[in-house]
Parts: sequence; C-alpha cells; structure tokens
Amino acid sequence: MPFNEYEQRRRKLAGELAGHKVDAFLVTFLPNVRYLTGFTGSNGVLLLIASGDSVFFTDPRYRIASAAEVSCPIRVSSGPILPEILSVVAKKKIRRLGFEKARVGYEQYAFLKDHAPARTTLFALGNLIEARRMVKSPAEIALIRRSVDANSAAFEAALRVIRPGRTKESDLAAEIDYRMRRLGAEKPAFETIVAAGARSALPHAQPTDKILGPNELLLIDMGATLAGYASDMTRVVSLGRAGSRIKKIYAAVLEAQLAAIDAVKPGVTADFVDGKARHALKKRGLDKAFVHSTGHGLGLEIHEPPRLGKKDKTRLQEGMTITIEPGAYLEGFGGVRIEDTVVVTKRGCEILTPTSKEFREI
Ligand code: ZN
Ligand code: ZN
Repeated sequence: MPFNEYEQRRRKLAGELAGHKVDAFLVTFLPNVRYLTGFTGSNGVLLLIASGDSVFFTDPRYRIASAAEVSCPIRVSSGPILPEILSVVAKKKIRRLGFEKARVGYEQYAFLKDHAPARTTLFALGNLIEARRMVKSPAEIALIRRSVDANSAAFEAALRVIRPGRTKESDLAAEIDYRMRRLGAEKPAFETIVAAGARSALPHAQPTDKILGPNELLLIDMGATLAGYASDMTRVVSLGRAGSRIKKIYAAVLEAQLAAIDAVKPGVTADFVDGKARHALKKRGLDKAFVHSTGHGLGLEIHEPPRLGKKDKTRLQEGMTITIEPGAYLEGFGGVRIEDTVVVTKRGCEILTPTSKEFREI
C-alpha cells in the first residue's frame, strides 16, 4: 500500500468529524486502525483528531514495527493505553470525543467515562470507517487480486494430493492451508471448510477425520489473507462419478450464481442481487434449501459490509469487492455452494476468481 494512502485516508476522515459533531475519534477496532495507519500489530489505537496531528498509541512490543509502518506521531506506553490516550485528550483540549460504539467494550467505556477530563464529553459513533472501507482503492484491489490468485493456486495444488479412501477431510484442510502459505499468504482468512458426502449439507462444516470416499461430493470453502487482504472461494467437486441428482443441483446453483453476478453493477442494491439468486433457485424448487445470504463484502476482514442479503439496501458502487455464493443444502444428502470474489466495475463486475466453475469429477 502506498505510504501516503494512509495519510490521505486520515485527512479525509478527519475532515468529516466536524459533521459528526466531534473534535476527535478514538479508533480502537484493529482493522480500522490498520486501514488508517498501516499498523499490522495486535495492540494499537488511533486518536484521529479533526484539526490534524492524529496520535497513534501502542506498547513497547510494537515500538520498532510501528515506527516503520505508521506515519503519524506515535506514543509508546508500557502501562495501559487508555490513561495515556486520555492525557493526550486533556493536553489537546478535546471537548467532544467520539468512539466506535460497536467496538468499545463495557470496561473500556466505563474507564473512559470515569477518567475523561471534566470538560470532555463522549459520543458514540456508528460505522464511519467501515462504510468508507467498502469501496476499495486500486492498490487495495491489486492486493485482493493477489490474495484471490494465491487462494485459487492453493486449491489446484491441494486437489492433486487427494487419494479417495485414504485422505481425510482434515488432511486436505491442512494441505490447503500449507499451500496458501507457500504461495505468499500469511494465513487462511478463516478456518478452511472441507466437507465430504452428506456433510457438505452443513454450510459451515468443520473438517473431521472422515475419510474422503470414492464417488462422493466434496465441498471446499477457502480463503487466504495476503498482505492483510482476504479472498474467499467455494467449489464443489465430485470424487469419481456423480449421480444425476447432484448434477441437477449443481446446475441450479450455478445458474443462481451467474444470475446474481449478472445483476451486480453500480447503483443496484445488495438485496436486489440477493433476490436474483433466490429467484433462480426458486424456479428449480431449491429456494428453501438456500439458508444463508448471497454474499458479503471482503477486504481487511473476511466479512465486511455490505451483506448481500434480504434486507441490505446498500447501493453497490464501483470498487466494492464482494462475494457471490448461493448454495443449496439437502440434509442427509449433500450440499452445493459456488462462491467467487468479484469487484464492482463501472458497468458491471469483474470476477476475480480464476478457478473454473464447470462441474468436475476428479
Ligand atoms: Zn467462503
Ligand atoms: Zn464467503
């Protein structure tokens, strides 16, 4: 990420704070801190100040790393961070201090309330930064593209090690995670899902020691985190020959996925895209088997706004990165989900995921 991109983000957001009636905004949620500073560690808080001169706080473990990553003034505190922050709030005479209402825990809030300077008032603010993070910059899209490519390459490499009758679900999950890291990812973006046979009907199955059988359906949902950015993909393959019922369900889910992708463009609402997938599955009598939403935003987090579900009225904009992942799950039989990562473009969207969606019997 270009170094000054963080400065630009801070400047832009600082300029909007007056509109939210605060003089400063205490940013404690780490993905938001990273978005505004580039800090990759596990303990850091940004005090974003409307008049400029924001201050970053961390502890001695991150003295060296933060000096390299963060371009605003840094205060390293060997004790708890909140008292240090409040001393800066007092010194800078900040009267109206905003905080992230969905992210501050009760203890932190109670401390701020009890120890803030007498003339400072706390203001609970909504998802200011999350809303801004929905639209990605070209540099962010480039990182997501790399993450998606590493993820798809890890998928292909892992498929090659499967030996039906010998490989366990957990073996394959471990192989996938290993391949991702060999391909440049720091870690999986979430716990890799490998579910075979009837277990594929569990949308969030955890890999078990079940052996992958011949002539079984195999669902793999995997994502990488690379340079902080997530990718997300689901594919279903058949180990050996698949029956006609599976092929029919697969075709229906693919039709729903393509219909939803077709609907993605700037200006349409998230729930509209979701409706397209649902409508396509309904035509095949599978709407009741589709038990989650059609997709979600992704970036510094694996699940970010918008949510492509029944109730989200967010209008899609160019530069948003989202997943499209309808599915159909039949208890005792199996499930199919097909998921790609896409980026909203000027006129529609680009599918970033390079992996084929043709039904594969391996
Ligand atoms: Zn997924
Ligand atoms: Zn997903």
